[in-house]
Amino acid sequence: MSAELRAPGVFPGDAIYIGGHFRKGGGEAVESLFPADGTLNTIVHCASQEDVTDALKAARAALADPAWCDLLPHRRAAWLSRIADAIDKNKEYLAWLQSRDTGKTLRETTILVGSAADTMRYYAAVAETAEEAITPSRGPYLTLSRFEPIGIIGAITPWNSPIASDVQKLAPALAAGNAVILKPSPWSPLTSLALAQIIDETGLPKGLVSVLPGGAEVGSRLVEDPEIGRIVFTGGTTVGRKIAEVAGKRLVPVSLELGGKSPTIIRPDADLDLALAGVLFGIFSSSGQSCIAGSRLFVHRSLYETFRERLVAATGKLVVGHPFSERTQVAPMVHVDHRAAVERWVARAKEEGGKVLIGGARPEGADYDDGYYYLPTIIESLTNEAVCCREEIFGPVLILLPYDDDETLIAQANDNRYGLACGIWSKDIIGALALGRRITAGTVWINTYKQFSASTPFGGEKDSGIGREKGLEGMRAYMVQKSYYIDTSQAPHPWARSHETD
Ligand code: NAD
Repeated sequence: MSAELRAPGVFPGDAIYIGGHFRKGGGEAVESLFPADGTLNTIVHCASQEDVTDALKAARAALADPAWCDLLPHRRAAWLSRIADAIDKNKEYLAWLQSRDTGKTLRETTILVGSAADTMRYYAAVAETAEEAITPSRGPYLTLSRFEPIGIIGAITPWNSPIASDVQKLAPALAAGNAVILKPSPWSPLTSLALAQIIDETGLPKGLVSVLPGGAEVGSRLVEDPEIGRIVFTGGTTVGRKIAEVAGKRLVPVSLELGGKSPTIIRPDADLDLALAGVLFGIFSSSGQSCIAGSRLFVHRSLYETFRERLVAATGKLVVGHPFSERTQVAPMVHVDHRAAVERWVARAKEEGGKVLIGGARPEGADYDDGYYYLPTIIESLTNEAVCCREEIFGPVLILLPYDDDETLIAQANDNRYGLACGIWSKDIIGALALGRRITAGTVWINTYKQFSASTPFGGEKDSGIGREKGLEGMRAYMVQKSYYIDTSQAPHPWARSHETD
């Protein structure tokens, strides 16, 4: 698609991107539907396993080309900056497209696109400034510790925040000098395909980036291929574990950004106005379809009833609506099947003795009839042991739990297989930090929630994943650390000399 055609209202062609060319994928044809009304966006012809073979060949050629492999880091950085500018230039289009594809509010997708451009710029700066080391040595030896590209990276992303997940992998991988084969989810491939078009127009050497929408068979083909030197995955824990098993057998590095069931904690001294706004945002933004959703809310018993009352009242005022309305706070779910899964979780919570305080149903009215909407839902009277407290629901469903003291709170917050994030609301920052140290989580937010920066590492503990994205280490993860010893004496090794004298 030419740049002139890239405007809200137009969908990327039905083509996958391999070696600098767009073509129809050899895999299944998938309908992309607008979650707000179920209308057809476009049909995407996904990739086949043969397409993966072609993408690998293109990546191999690109990596061998001096136009890429001989580039100094600041030249690679220039490519990233160009891509960042191109994302910015197409900001409106990309945001619109991601909203059409996922149902997220335009307000949210606009922020996500901006942050994708920022991530590219951040890694341009990292590529330019990251240093290698001359390590201490003895005698005539000069010893170096260098970081070199791995080669071909297999990147697999979920449907919930495509542009953010894609760029979090593409930017550091390219900054490090690799080629990337990106496989977005068949539920939301459109932004990734538009990103391919935008990257193509910057003139980045062909084959460095391929974009192959597809399902499990394309993903597992990537994971199993001996040419893939690192697998980076964002998605659910079940699939992540399968990928880790294959990576373990192949002995290739893998990073896994997986699911969560994150606790949010309201301490007795919390500012309740701030906490209320933060809790609502933490669980109901993105309709709860967020790995870091604050889905278990622990409230100190001294405020439980007051806070519950305010929370339910405020939840009732949230605007559930069309993704393109500026007023909308809770937009539709990504897919009709995913809403059905959330409905099954709520039914299960009721079977477990949960009491639905608000929501627990689809909104009513003509505006909602054709979309995949679900009301923000709060459930209480469950214990932390209930299945709905243990498992990720990935929808707008908050479980409310009272707590009495820090020790039982910490035990319960940590009594979960996930360890992605935690929110603490308290005026006592020192106390909140001390509490945060005892919670098993990759990120702890204090008096805020869902805040990010490209320079701050992100990742999970336990079943929430392995490894960290973002920050300097986020680029190092795409590099091989190699040591060099150079003998500056030009003298034969003493072992050889003594041999000569025999
Ligand atoms: P998913 O695990 O079903 O799929 C993720 C990706 O893996 C998709 O592209 C899918 O096609 C692919 N895939 C499926 N089976 C595969 C296989 N056998 N081999 C290789 N690839 C395969 O997840 P989803 O439903 O798309 O996304 C939701 C999940 O992602 C949630 O659990 C959420 O918590 C998680 N997530 C985590 C983070 C994080 O940073 N920790 C961020 C966003 C989403």
